[in-house]
Amino acid sequence: MTPYVKYLQDGTLPDSNTEATRIKVSAPLYVLENGVLYRKSFNGPNLRCLAPQQALDVIKEMHEDLCAQHSDYRTVVSRIMRQGYYWQTIYRDTAEIIKACDACQRHGTVLPKQGRA
Ligand SMILES: [Zn+2]
Repeated sequence: MTPYVKYLQDGTLPDSNTEATRIKVSAPLYVLENGVLYRKSFNGPNLRCLAPQQALDVIKEMHEDLCAQHSDYRTVVSRIMRQGYYWQTIYRDTAEIIKACDACQRHGTVLPKQGRA
């Protein structure tokens, strides 16, 4: 996240050429508003980019919250994005946290099963 903020603020690029190219290529997908990084969205409001610790809290909240009932990762990711949040590894991080969820390990994920009344 930080390299994007630096680049959008004053054009500063990372020292590594590979990293610099990656930032330049994907920077147009992001916008900085009042110092906060957002990922541009074409079908809704821009998504606020979260730092790793904030992202963890959001995943846990969305996954464990009463209404979510330990939802599977696709459901959790779409809920997070509907709340207006985004980060680059959103799918991987969410899948990993849910895989490690203690309650899900014990009772299995609550998923609607095909063919069950
Ligand atoms: Zn769970």
